[in-house]
Amino acid sequence: MRIDLKDKTAVVTGSTGGIGLAAAIGLARAGAAVILNGREEDRVEGAVRMLLEAVPGADVAGIPSDLSTAEGCARLSGALPNADILVNNVGIFGPKPFFEIEDATWERCFQLNVMSGVRLSRAYMKGMMERGWGRVVFISSESALNIPADMIHYGFTKTAMLALSRGLAKMAAGTGVTVNSVLPGPTMSEGVGEMLKEMAEEQGLSIDAAGVAFVKSQRPSSILQRPASVEEVANMIVYACSMEASATTGAALRVDGGVVDSIVP
Ligand code: NAD
Repeated sequence: MRIDLKDKTAVVTGSTGGIGLAAAIGLARAGAAVILNGREEDRVEGAVRMLLEAVPGADVAGIPSDLSTAEGCARLSGALPNADILVNNVGIFGPKPFFEIEDATWERCFQLNVMSGVRLSRAYMKGMMERGWGRVVFISSESALNIPADMIHYGFTKTAMLALSRGLAKMAAGTGVTVNSVLPGPTMSEGVGEMLKEMAEEQGLSIDAAGVAFVKSQRPSSILQRPASVEEVANMIVYACSMEASATTGAALRVDGGVVDSIVP
């Protein structure tokens, strides 16, 4: 299979690093014009340079904007009114005991992880449906199904993304626009590296070894028994965005290394 996304424009939210940047690189390799996003201008410019190093000659631009607010989402869709592919990747995570999670943290997590996807789908899907082709992918998590007791607020947003994705897929029935969610398991992104730093220092481990130790102790049902790389997750995202994935819609696609102990998603 040769994935060719020539003449398609893809916007990937939260793509200055991690899974988002890897997905953007994969989409650019497949020939798509790619729009990168992050909060800070210099980080976005840095990501554009990294993408160009990985894919010389790629058609890439950056739109810095904080997507945790309605204004931030409007700034992005105002600067890029049409897109063929929308990857709702941006998300924050981090463990916190339930009794210490204040309303403001719940609200921020919901606004960024869920409402950015609502707002950007509203901005882009109508055009996709009118043009008769489009791909929307929500980056959810295995935590949508296995709600972590130490990240209930995060799991809550990731389950909400599955509902949103499934509903939007039905709304776009018969239009040529597909909507799917991708459920990564533990993945070695910058964000996860930060989360593992303390554990690595405490136990005198490298970050990679701490990743393996984390999976074995915190996600013991993992069949893969190690974190995925961001590229492994990006491969599924690029496939879901491809012409070839035309019969896959309303699906929850797992790239969790088998963490969720279930035959079906
Ligand atoms: P990361 O922290 O490495 O990268 C997040 C990106 O989002 C960065 O580019 C950051 O600059 C950007 N960002 C953060 N806040 C933003 C904001 N307010 N506005 C715009 N951009 C912002 O994250 P990651 O680990 O690559 O995760 C990406 C997605 O995958 C998230 O939705 C996460 O929940 C999901 N996920 C990650 C894992 C994992 O183990 N890494 C597992 C399952 C799901």
